[in-house]
Amino acid sequence: MALPSMRVGDVGPQVTAVRERLVATGDLPGSAATADTFDTEVERAVRAFQQRRGMLVDGVVGSQTYRALDGARWLLGDRILMHTPGHLMAGDDVGALQERLLGLGYPCGRVDGVFGSSTDAALRDFQRGVGLRPDGLAGPHTLRGLNQLSRAVTGGAPHALREADRVRSAGTNLRGRVVVLDPGHSSLDPGGVAGDLREADITLDLARRVEGRLAAVGVHVVLTRGLTGDPSQLERADLANSLNADLVLSLHCESLQNAPQAHGVATYFYGSPNQGGAWSATGEQLASLVQREIVARTDLLDCRTHPRTWDILRHTVMPAVRVEVGHLSHPGDAARLGDPAFRDTVAEAVVVSVQRVYLGETDDSTTGTLNVADVMARAHQF
Ligand SMILES: [Zn+2]
Repeated sequence: MALPSMRVGDVGPQVTAVRERLVATGDLPGSAATADTFDTEVERAVRAFQQRRGMLVDGVVGSQTYRALDGARWLLGDRILMHTPGHLMAGDDVGALQERLLGLGYPCGRVDGVFGSSTDAALRDFQRGVGLRPDGLAGPHTLRGLNQLSRAVTGGAPHALREADRVRSAGTNLRGRVVVLDPGHSSLDPGGVAGDLREADITLDLARRVEGRLAAVGVHVVLTRGLTGDPSQLERADLANSLNADLVLSLHCESLQNAPQAHGVATYFYGSPNQGGAWSATGEQLASLVQREIVARTDLLDCRTHPRTWDILRHTVMPAVRVEVGHLSHPGDAARLGDPAFRDTVAEAVVVSVQRVYLGETDDSTTGTLNVADVMARAHQF
């Protein structure tokens, strides 16, 4: 698509589109999205973006800069990637996929963020190599395979393990960390049900939205279950322990059939006030971050954090929390949970809270203000 170049002084809907994308990349504040003037503030933001991308820094939005800006909104897992000859898919998610394939030894040409025929060939080789159907589709299945294999490659040999430990102790970076996502319930146990909404489906969908975003910043994500299977709480905890995961996030929605008026979000951590002080302080900290970020970004009622001794919290040796995202038994909350945009917002809150665990003392961001673009930017600083 050949676009006329945009520069300082230009006005119009094209400029608004540029502004919106610069807001998405974090180069302009959210309030800047609605104006339609290419002013010096926009020029500064364009330069910052070009600089970060290693592009020619001229403050002008030509077709190359526009393509890069447009692609920056896609995180790996946001959409299914495939080879579409004639109009190639492009974006940061394609670049992340290419990096992943290259890292595993599947040559896909240059990491250029454009899904061409060599990326297609490398993806199919990878799929064949790990026993997936070689359909050339980078969807949730294939991405999970990529994640798990990336983990196996970095975590398999003792030498590589020490490398991973160094990365983990390196501070605020998310890259190389292992996060276990535990979508509540299973194909055999739907959990709460409201009309055609099933808790088991909502939690899996939510987990995949979180997974895509975390994978894009270099976190190794492992899900305790997929579409099939019915692991027990204990098996889920064992999986996290055997992976030596950094964090466990268990995702559920509350259902109180006898109290349909009850609503809101609550987060639980390991603690037993009545049993001699068993308590996970890091779990409590993670719970409070998750809770606060979700409350700040949604209109769910704040039902606060609470200590519990459930298996997924008690048998895991790393910080673990279980979040009950809304009440499926409440019509208002159920409507929210049925909305993919709402689930995206919750996923974003979860990703940011994970980042904040590692930012620790250095984190002076106000709750609800960091977004995934910030997390990406921080991840790429290291
Ligand atoms: Zn549940």
